[in-house]
Amino acid sequence: MGTRGREIVGMNMDVDELLRLLNAAYASEWLAYYQYWLGAKVLKGPMKDAVAAELTLHANEELAHAVLLTTRILQLGGTPVPNPLQWFELSPCSYDAPTDPFVGVILDQNISGEQCAISTYKSLMDVTKDKDMVTYNLALTILTQEVEHEEDLQSLKEDLDLMLGRQA
Ligand code: FE
Ligand code: FE
Ligand code: MG
Repeated sequence: MGTRGREIVGMNMDVDELLRLLNAAYASEWLAYYQYWLGAKVLKGPMKDAVAAELTLHANEELAHAVLLTTRILQLGGTPVPNPLQWFELSPCSYDAPTDPFVGVILDQNISGEQCAISTYKSLMDVTKDKDMVTYNLALTILTQEVEHEEDLQSLKEDLDLMLGRQA
């Protein structure tokens, strides 16, 4: 823990409540990582190679978000969720198991995951604005990437729908 680093946050907000939010986001990132990672492996259907490449890239980026969050949790004197069993109860976003391997289904599941992630980081920014600049900046960095993820997947879904002759 960084004592002065924690102290400047504690002047403005409840650090334990902030740590709860950071751990919730951390749990979500691990679930998102696995959902993407496995989705990329089981994928079937048109454009599957292009989609799998994007899903694998996103998996790695979600893992990098988990890394950023652990660093911040530790700086603030918190404990990163020690047991994966807690991921489900703590995550604000649901885990959608890739049980149907069709590209369109997997894309839709991950699009809703990204939309939930966007809301999560937007609220983390709202809570930390003018109170904890370091977490605010971290949430902005991650949010920027989640916004990119959503658009990547939605444009793949649009291509898929066009290819299948459906209305996008
Ligand atoms: Fe993420
Ligand atoms: Fe993402
Ligand atoms: Mg991408």
